[in-house]
Amino acid sequence: MPEAVLFRGARVIDPSTGHDAEADVLVAGERVEAVGAGLDPQGAEVLECAGLVLAPGLVDLHTHLREPGAEHKETIATGTRAAAAGGFTAVSSMANTDPVTDHAGIVAEIRDKAAESGLADVFPVGAITKDLAGESMAELGEMVEAGVRMFSDDGNCVPTARTLRNALVYAKAFTAEVVIADHCEDASLVAGGHMHEGVHSYSLGLAGRPAEAEEIIVARDLAIAHATAGRIHICHVSSARSVELIRRAKADGVRVTAEVTPHHLVFTDDDLVGYDTRFKVNPPLRTAEDRDALRAGVADGTIDAIATDHAPHAVEEKESEFDQAPPGTIGLETALAAVLTHLVLPGVVELSRAIEAMSATPARILGATGHGGAIEPGRHANLVVFDPAETWVVEPPFASKARNCAFTGSELMGRVRHTMLRGSLTVADGKVSR
Ligand SMILES: [Zn+2]
Repeated sequence: MPEAVLFRGARVIDPSTGHDAEADVLVAGERVEAVGAGLDPQGAEVLECAGLVLAPGLVDLHTHLREPGAEHKETIATGTRAAAAGGFTAVSSMANTDPVTDHAGIVAEIRDKAAESGLADVFPVGAITKDLAGESMAELGEMVEAGVRMFSDDGNCVPTARTLRNALVYAKAFTAEVVIADHCEDASLVAGGHMHEGVHSYSLGLAGRPAEAEEIIVARDLAIAHATAGRIHICHVSSARSVELIRRAKADGVRVTAEVTPHHLVFTDDDLVGYDTRFKVNPPLRTAEDRDALRAGVADGTIDAIATDHAPHAVEEKESEFDQAPPGTIGLETALAAVLTHLVLPGVVELSRAIEAMSATPARILGATGHGGAIEPGRHANLVVFDPAETWVVEPPFASKARNCAFTGSELMGRVRHTMLRGSLTVADGKVSR
């Protein structure tokens, strides 16, 4: 049950209003009651927040919850538990479930499960094509009617220009807010590949997935978005030239948004030299120049959002041989600290911009009303409070069911203290409520 809580003396950063100053935040029921200095607790539970940052609850544009169909990897309950632990109040669940989220019935099923057992709001992404097969269009109309705003065949690239064009034109006809998100990889160039194609793939003797496999599809998608005036979102950008293509398209007025993952902002293909399957991700980790271009893209807004691509797998799946192991890393519990440690601390990205890229902007892209701020009286109390200076070493167990985390063993700075979903603490004093 929501209770009354007074967060006292936090640095309140609200990118949607530009607010960045010390304040108290009083929450009553599901909503923010007051924001200001020296507020009277009025009987509310007081949480001392001196030295802590209070911000809108984080919003993830790219989460694989694995339910329905692969509950041995993750469930809606455990995935949203990981989200809460990481400071997220909303996640966007990808459509590559089994059965695929390609009609309104599955959307409703996921939402019902999330309402019953979830510690974060779940916004299901609908598939673009039936069964993610890349052929006939999924039931976009009924899913839009059910409130879905993002469609993606993620896991697969939209295979043909014709299919993407149909999707952009079709989606636009419903409402201007619908966005088509693409996992950009040319299938013919990545077939059989396990890591970025370059000096390290040659020396390790592993088949590569070249950067141009992504860049070709990014260029294709931008050209079609330009021609149709449709709204395209580029998932998990990994290459420097993709960033440049997006930058130019934005200057040309193309309706494009883009995301990058914390692991692509931190690691490179150099981290794969020990054949550690934790670093086997898709798209692959690329070079230091690519990573630096991604960081610059976040800083200047070319890349709008930071999204986790949280991809849980069972221990035995990820412990197989490198070429057999499934790609992906979990990321919800480490995203904020990874960004604080590797982007904010070195001065590459301002703290308020980092928070914006993880809350206000993804909420806007997703149409997640009530999330991402503003932190103002009358608004839903979806909040995160974190200690920007606490250091910790990432180790399992995790709130997630999985342990395939690229950050395991890393020392990170910045730790979630409280997460609040509509007035209820899903994380209190660093402990997940259930
Ligand atoms: Zn993907």
